[in-house]
Amino acid sequence: MMPMHSTERVLVTGGAGFVGSHLCDRLIKNGVDVLCVDNFFTGNKANIAHLLGNPLFELKRHDVTFPLYVEVDKIYNLACPASPVHYQHDPVQTTKTSVHGAINMLGLAKRVKACILQASTSEVYGDPEVHPQPEDYSGRVNPIGIRSCYDEGKRCAETLFFDYWRQHNLRIKVIRIFNTYGPRMHPNDGRVVSNFIVQALQGKDITLYGDGQQTRSFCYVDDLVDGMVAMMGTNEHVTGPINVGNPGEVTMRELAELTLKLTGSRSRLTFLPLPQDDPRRRQPDITSAREILGWKPKIDLEDGLKETVAYFKHILEA
Ligand code: NAD
Ligand code: UDP
Ligand code: UDP
Repeated sequence: MMPMHSTERVLVTGGAGFVGSHLCDRLIKNGVDVLCVDNFFTGNKANIAHLLGNPLFELKRHDVTFPLYVEVDKIYNLACPASPVHYQHDPVQTTKTSVHGAINMLGLAKRVKACILQASTSEVYGDPEVHPQPEDYSGRVNPIGIRSCYDEGKRCAETLFFDYWRQHNLRIKVIRIFNTYGPRMHPNDGRVVSNFIVQALQGKDITLYGDGQQTRSFCYVDDLVDGMVAMMGTNEHVTGPINVGNPGEVTMRELAELTLKLTGSRSRLTFLPLPQDDPRRRQPDITSAREILGWKPKIDLEDGLKETVAYFKHILEA
């Protein structure tokens, strides 16, 4: 007799977003049955439109702050706006999405005995005094600032994951994602890579916040997806947290100049006030990812930015 389910069923929450849509692509390419759940707050149907006719793909409009009853084998929990502009738009909803969303997805994982991966963030380190950031650094986060809805929401989600693991023996995987960029970033989501590229392509001033000397370390989305799938594939003793990011650290000024070079733009640099609690430095220590996942990023910033510039050129012309 044919088994009821010949392929693995995987739930991706936030699957219509930037990272989630690339993850859905990869899973489907691997022959996996994907259920994409999204409330389209920052996600976009265009990100997954090409998958809609695929028999392995199913889309469900749903807000993870409400319970979800489905039958799946694995869960990637990505639902949460990631750009400061978006997560600060409705901060209470951001915390609810992280915290209630995590409780619901953990409750689901518990009922169906699924393995569940949490897309956590380098924001759990806040404005760090330790550089680069290893996983055992517990961070320096302001609990009452404008970034707290996201940072503390994500920290609480990690707490819930580890308590479900200790209390209910759930199979959990937590990765801490550092700044990721690539095609399908929202052109207006306010993140630095999309802002700079769109400004450069439109000949508008490049907006540097503060003195532009703050740093980030940017990972191309395909590398991140490799890391996510590798993490899900680890044995049940691997819970993380594991940093997934590209250690190549640049200042925002260097990023602006590289963007100008790659777009051939003559936009000028303009300096605007630094937002509250903006971390000064950020760089992942990826020793654990290398040793436990056998993962390291392959795509350097210049190559990844070229792909991203090509994407934005295409959507701005459309
Ligand atoms: P994104 O905003 O493009 O995607 C988030 C998706 O979640 C969107 O499709 C959105 O509509 C959906 N969503 C939001 N609230 C929801 C809710 N209540 N119910 C259902 N769906 C909801 O952001 P992204 O960059 O793709 O980030 C994906 C995940 O990775 C997020 O959890 C984010 O915190 C994490 N992350 C991303 C980065 C990065 O640099 N991109 C860095 C660290 C962590
Ligand atoms: N939940 C869900 N889908 C399920 C099972 C549970 O959305 O398939 C939600 C449920 O609404 C609950 C939460 O997950 O509020 C936590 O579930 P758990 O079983 O851990 O706790 P309890 O039901 O005892 O509150
Ligand atoms: N930033 C900037 N100009 C912009 C958008 C962002 O200089 O138009 C800076 C921002 O202040 C921060 C860095 O770029 O120091 C990364 O910002 P982003 O919002 O992309 O991510 P996060 O701060 O969450 O890492």
